[in-house]
Amino acid sequence: MPSVTTQAIVLRHADYREHDRMLTLLSPGMGRIEALCRGCKRPGSPLLSAGEWFTLGEYVLYTGKGHMTVTSCHVSESFYPLRTDYERLQYATYLLSIAEAAAQPGDRAVELFTLLARSLSRLAYGEKDPQAVAAAFLLHFSAISGYRPRLSHCVLCGRRMEDAEIRLMDTENGGLVCPQCADARQSLRAVTADQVRWMRDVLEKGIDKTDRPAADAPGPLLGLYVESRMEKPIRHKGLWR
Ligand SMILES: [Zn+2]
Repeated sequence: MPSVTTQAIVLRHADYREHDRMLTLLSPGMGRIEALCRGCKRPGSPLLSAGEWFTLGEYVLYTGKGHMTVTSCHVSESFYPLRTDYERLQYATYLLSIAEAAAQPGDRAVELFTLLARSLSRLAYGEKDPQAVAAAFLLHFSAISGYRPRLSHCVLCGRRMEDAEIRLMDTENGGLVCPQCADARQSLRAVTADQVRWMRDVLEKGIDKTDRPAADAPGPLLGLYVESRMEKPIRHKGLWR
C-alpha cells in the first residue's frame, strides 16, 4: 500500500528546503499526518494551494522511506476570505491549533474533521460573530472529546440547579457548581445564566440555529475549559476580547 487517498485539512506548514514544505494534515480516517509537499513553494506548482494553511482537499499520499509525500491534491476549499479578515483569521488559526493538539497519528478523527471543516466555513463565509463561532467549536469539541460540560446540575453534589443560582463553573470538573458547593478552589470561574443558556442552546440546536445573542458566547471560559481538559496550553495571544 504505497499510496493512499484521503480528505484532509492543512493544520500547519513548515518550510523545508527551498521550495518544499512539511505539512501537518488532519484526515478523518487517519488522524494527524505529517507529509512532505515537494515544490509547493515554486511559482506555478500544481501543489501551490495544497500547501497552504486551511486548505481542504483530497490528498494523494505516497509512503516511502518512512515518511509520506503529497503526490497530488484536488483542492475542494481554500477558505480564502479568512486571509482578508484579521480577526477571523486569528480565530481560524486558533481552531487549527486545538485540532492539531487533539488529533493523534493513526486515530480516526471523523467528528473533529467535520467540526473543523464546518467551523472554518462559518468563519470564512458566515454572518455569525467569529467569537461565537469559535466558542461553539470549543463547546462541540468538548462534547466529542468526552467532556461535554454539565449545564443543569451541580457537578460536585449532582443537585439540579435553578438558573437564578448560576454563578460559577468548575473548569476542572466540567460543569456548574451550586452555591452550597462553592469554595475557594482555583478552578472556579464566573459564568452567567445567559452564557449557560447560550451553551445549552448551541449544544442542542447548533450555532446556525440558535437565536441567542453572540455576546453571550463564553469564548474565554470555554477556551480555558478545553485547555485545562487537554492539559496543553494552546496559543491564542490576544484572541479573546
Ligand atoms: Zn453542589
